[in-house]
Amino acid sequence: MKNESSVYEALHEESAAIPLIDTHEHIRPESTLADRAWSFFDFFEHYVSSDLVSAGMPREALETMRNPDSGLDLEQRWNLIAPYWPFVKTTGYGKAMTEYMGALFGIADINEDTYQELSRRINDARKPGWYRAVLKDKANIECSLVITWPGESVDVDLEFFRAVPILDHYAIPATRAELEALEREAGCTIQTLDQLLAAQEAALDACAAKGIAAVKIFLAYRRTLHFERASKPEAARAFDRIWLSQPQDLAFEDLKPLQDFMTRTLIGRAAERNLPIQIHTGLQEGNGNYIANSNPTLLANVIMEYPDARFDLFHAGYPFTGELASMAKNFANVYADLCWVQAISPHVFKNTLHEWIDTIPANKIFAIGGDSNYVEGAYGHCTLARRLVTEVLAERVAQDAMDHPEALWYAGRILRENAIDFFRLQSRPVQ
Ligand SMILES: [Zn+2]
Repeated sequence: MKNESSVYEALHEESAAIPLIDTHEHIRPESTLADRAWSFFDFFEHYVSSDLVSAGMPREALETMRNPDSGLDLEQRWNLIAPYWPFVKTTGYGKAMTEYMGALFGIADINEDTYQELSRRINDARKPGWYRAVLKDKANIECSLVITWPGESVDVDLEFFRAVPILDHYAIPATRAELEALEREAGCTIQTLDQLLAAQEAALDACAAKGIAAVKIFLAYRRTLHFERASKPEAARAFDRIWLSQPQDLAFEDLKPLQDFMTRTLIGRAAERNLPIQIHTGLQEGNGNYIANSNPTLLANVIMEYPDARFDLFHAGYPFTGELASMAKNFANVYADLCWVQAISPHVFKNTLHEWIDTIPANKIFAIGGDSNYVEGAYGHCTLARRLVTEVLAERVAQDAMDHPEALWYAGRILRENAIDFFRLQSRPVQ
């Protein structure tokens, strides 16, 4: 056995010098920081907020606590969170937040004596230049792929980001009103399935022309990932029921042929344009989701029927991490992404990476994705993932399962090079 700590120290220094490619974030433009005051309580849009609800905090209290316009002062907001905070400080989410708040703002522990000072420091820091200070200087992230929601611009700040639009909303209209909302977004008439298909294609082409890195499918929050082969007449029948029906609830079974057909069409069209497809698999953020809907093995038929499509399966499929490994091992067009897992559980991240190193070729693993709404979270989650990668590789070197040069090469692949190749990041869009 080699001395694990000395290997770790050397690898830690070397891997810190690798500019990261971060495969997944939800960060909004820096301009959105302007014109308001910020506090600790603005960091509960996701993650720790879900653990607070899981720990018993009433949802109403959460909404009041995190609403900057609730009229409450900081002390009143702290009092809402205080009964539950000790129970969520210990989870992966809580630990990650505590660590990045400490590293960025110099507050080692968040408690009733420190939340006010922490909030003051957060507000002082969130000024123009903060994104560069955090993402570049502190985190050494070269590029983060950021989700853009339906209707949002894909014109992101290319110093930091490349856009990954969610376009699956063309697959899930369920009411006439939702079709009319799509018409407004697309700027065209959508009264037939062919018109819906044309609108989807126009939206994809408009995004592709602006240099997006991939498209995102988010549907595991809404339905099963099993997209069956629906015929166009079946899809058209479902479309017509939505278009023609007066307000009435159509069941999932009524809508499924249209959803399946449109999602498959999106996958095929992305493949034709050589755009990868990022798919949410595994744990859904929030409370009260159906985990069985998100098992990555549900995608096997689509993966086999679209061999030219390239799939980036998210979140290690957690808790289906072995299932995802077997998919990436089986299929040349499936890549395995650990984004967010480091914040869910550092232990799961490390165990999964060990398993994946054994099972998945080295060019098909992505280890860095912060999956945060905030640059502070992106820094914290990416720095944590980088450290966990280093620990795993140092353990391998110590066990003589890898030598040091191979470990460093492996770090370069999964922290950076794999994502550059997969998302073709050298080919920047024409400005
Ligand atoms: Zn996400």
